[in-house]
Amino acid sequence: MILQLEQICKEYIQGSMRVSVLKNITFFMEEGEYVAVMGPSGSGKTTLMNIIGCLDQATSGTYCLDGKDIKTCSEAQMADIRLRKIGFVFQNFNLLPRQNALENVELPLTYAKIPKKERRQRAEEALCRVGLKDRIRFLPSQLSGGQKQRVAIARALVNHPKLLLADEPTGALDSRSGEQVMELFQKLNEEGTSILMITHDADVSSRAKRRVLIRDGILRQEDME
Ligand code: ADP
Ligand code: MG
Repeated sequence: MILQLEQICKEYIQGSMRVSVLKNITFFMEEGEYVAVMGPSGSGKTTLMNIIGCLDQATSGTYCLDGKDIKTCSEAQMADIRLRKIGFVFQNFNLLPRQNALENVELPLTYAKIPKKERRQRAEEALCRVGLKDRIRFLPSQLSGGQKQRVAIARALVNHPKLLLADEPTGALDSRSGEQVMELFQKLNEEGTSILMITHDADVSSRAKRRVLIRDGILRQEDME
């Protein structure tokens, strides 16, 4: 089991108010699955992604990633898990503007202290895998939105993560580029990558093999709606 969330709650304190954003979320995901979390804006999707991505901790409940209980982890251990086990894809790509595609993809390998030669080779392979062999020296400003997102996906994959975690990956793309990203996700999943994709778009969510719905911080399986 790659993800085990049991009775996860997240509360924020706003002045004297306690705001409950995630309410008793229980969710399991096996390795190799492709799951979409679908819900409207403000339903708690990004809050949930931040917990699953070890960017934030739950207020209560149990979360295990790849068998490891995250509550017992220090900040440094969480950073290490993010680096080694999770590939992140964001709506707005989050590429470094002054680094070319290859350098952007190399970044997680630099953090992981992989030697330069191997870094270069693995980054090139990852860019080939997403169909950008002929764009490796391009700066983000010289790439289309869809190409930027594919660079971001190459960066997410380059460290061979256990889980690809995507928050609204097509949210900033036109429909054709969005379709290419969806086709790429499908290919990566067929090759064995576990994918958890967060979206407010029903068409996008229908591309996953399983869907769960979130509304007002409550998660449910699609067939229970
Ligand atoms: P989504 O990604 O589904 O649009 P979010 O997870 O970003 O939703 O937000 C869910 C709810 O949590 C919103 O009502 C938002 O205002 C609230 N929220 C998110 N982050 C914080 C925070 N740091 N402090 C207080 N409230 C927050
Ligand atoms: Mg969001």
